[in-house]
Amino acid sequence: MVTAGYITPEARPEVFRYIDAANVDLKAFTERFYHKVTFSHLDPVLDTLRWLKHETDIWFEITNLMIPGENDEADETRRLCDWVLKNLGDNVPLHFTAFHPDFKLMDKPKTPAATLKRARQIALSAGIKYCYVGNVFDEEGQTTCCPSCHNVLIRRSWHDILEYNLDGNRCPCGETIQGIFSASDSRRKLRQGRFYPSLV
Ligand SMILES: [Zn+2]
Repeated sequence: MVTAGYITPEARPEVFRYIDAANVDLKAFTERFYHKVTFSHLDPVLDTLRWLKHETDIWFEITNLMIPGENDEADETRRLCDWVLKNLGDNVPLHFTAFHPDFKLMDKPKTPAATLKRARQIALSAGIKYCYVGNVFDEEGQTTCCPSCHNVLIRRSWHDILEYNLDGNRCPCGETIQGIFSASDSRRKLRQGRFYPSLV
């Protein structure tokens, strides 16, 4: 489920009982943005993220769409990353994605690639293990590396997978990689052509 995570505590279990995996938009890390741009509030979204982590086994990742001048200050990114580490730990994948002008937000420019790179560096430096950039060409920013031996595990280009070195959920060095990965012989499949690991 792709979700804004804006849901009451009463409704959460009713909806998420049908969900195996979720990508939660954390649209900003200020109440000002949530109130002014989305007419909602930040705290209920943070509550949902904490609930997913501590009360369920649902696999979830976080996406932060960076809009120039609205939510792309380095300090805000730092505070967002610190909150994730403190409340969710270092294993929840965090995606920083590029905005482009559309619908009612035509007055903002598209997100510079440098902004996304900077955000990813902030996250990795803070200790988040899996951080990616999206909606731009950035092979390095879309590669999964082992947090222990730092070898490349999954190399991507947009939705294509170019290299895949996981065995189940393990790096060849033995480190367990968080996520839900097919247990089958992935490398053999990759040699036969395009490879799409399946969620199990
Ligand atoms: Zn490794």
